[in-house]
Amino acid sequence: MSLEYVSTRNNQTKITASQAILKGLADDGGLFVPTEIPALSCSLEALSKMNYQEVAYEVMKCYLTDFTEEELKHCINSAYDSKFDTEEIAPLAKVGDVYYLELFHGATIAFKDMALSILPHLLTTSAKKNQVKNEIVILTATSGDTGKAALAGFADVPGTSIIVFYPKNGVSPIQEKQMITQKGANTHVVGIKGNFDDAQSGVKAMFNNKELAEVMDKTGYQFSSANSINIGRLVPQIVYYVYAYTRLLAHGEVKDGEKINVVVPTGNFGNILAAYYAKNMGVPIQKLVCASNENKVLFDFFRTGTYDKNREFILTSSPSMDILISSNLERLIYLIAGEDSAKCTELMKALSEKGSYSITDDMKAKLADFTGGYATETQTAEMIKETYEKENYIMDTHTAVAGYVCREYQKNSGDTTKTVVASTASPYKFTRSVMSAIDSKYADMEDFALVDELNRLSGVDVPNAINEIRTAPVLHDIVCDKTEMQATVEKILGL
Ligand SMILES: *Cc1c(COP(=O)(O)O)cnc(C)c1O
Repeated sequence: MSLEYVSTRNNQTKITASQAILKGLADDGGLFVPTEIPALSCSLEALSKMNYQEVAYEVMKCYLTDFTEEELKHCINSAYDSKFDTEEIAPLAKVGDVYYLELFHGATIAFKDMALSILPHLLTTSAKKNQVKNEIVILTATSGDTGKAALAGFADVPGTSIIVFYPKNGVSPIQEKQMITQKGANTHVVGIKGNFDDAQSGVKAMFNNKELAEVMDKTGYQFSSANSINIGRLVPQIVYYVYAYTRLLAHGEVKDGEKINVVVPTGNFGNILAAYYAKNMGVPIQKLVCASNENKVLFDFFRTGTYDKNREFILTSSPSMDILISSNLERLIYLIAGEDSAKCTELMKALSEKGSYSITDDMKAKLADFTGGYATETQTAEMIKETYEKENYIMDTHTAVAGYVCREYQKNSGDTTKTVVASTASPYKFTRSVMSAIDSKYADMEDFALVDELNRLSGVDVPNAINEIRTAPVLHDIVCDKTEMQATVEKILGL
């Protein structure tokens, strides 16, 4: 059975999975969604006996129906290999009575690797299937982690080049160092004077610019996206929720069919949306808890039904969640609007024109599976310190936001359902914030001294991703104004 994709803003035109992956964003500015969410292809029991790669195949084949078995298995096996530092790929760590699903064992030590290590393979396979002759230019806005993971995934991949925009003053020192030391002749990294939303809006504007697309095509280029709006990122992320449940089953932590809750530290709403898809495929998930930092636009949305980005943008210690426009929410809006693309278009128009929209009561009723929470900077730091002192487990700032929200949710609701918290980055990626949370005496120490100290406290080996950048030379130093993003792209590509 083949599954087709439509835009959230026009569901009349249907395209294949590989075409949706190539395009990234629909021409009308909408996001691609499958015409239905498929059911799991085999039982949870059967999946519990498979390894990560096998589970990935069983899940992804339901969505990427125009890929052959050979093509899809090749993509999966090229992605989930020794780039990950554990054969489990996404291990579960039991900390107290909560299971932390560690999604940071890939090349750049953030959960973005889970999707971005496979996206280049999905994209080049899609290009071949659709006889694309142009060079594919990956254009990406990053709040820190996507950029590095995408650079690592696409570096020196034939037929592609990649341009990453990041907020010059909005990422951690280690995140910035990881990006500006990236090797590969086809990689470009640009800091912008602006925040993540500026970077994302600038990239979206270029995707929607038809004149630019024509000039690109004449010169032998076309854009695609590595941002989480690409369906080629969403689909691989569904896999680890299926995997997590089936590991709990395999280890006897849950009985077959027993419900679990999932808590996800959220920014662009990609990761938690994948959990929602997993639930709708048949994974027994009860509540989806959306955890925000002080940029709590989603917390307010789930509480009131009004999405309002008109507020101060706060720089926090969890920069990958410093986002006021959560792009992937559009996919959920489309679904709860009853797959009404006119309604979805109207709300998204209000968002871009007024910066806010309100959903109907009917739509709100369909959000019963979701609940929101948030953690302040102090609460996030306390969570890191307490978990270290009580459980001897050191988590990063993003995971700590979710850990805190999880604890508060359990306390306030009395819900004792077993819970999986998505752990989205290694503490080594945010060493300064993590170590300062544990003890203020670390505030004056230099970044790599802190890395060694974190190693001493946690007993967890320093990842290669960190050792590599200790001495790596800076290879990228372009900085531009947020209004000059297109001019910068034109210069890089020689248009
Ligand atoms: C990207 C990221 C998030 C947010 O994920 P979304 O899919 O954008 O909601 C959370 N934590 C870390 C470490 C990230 O890199």
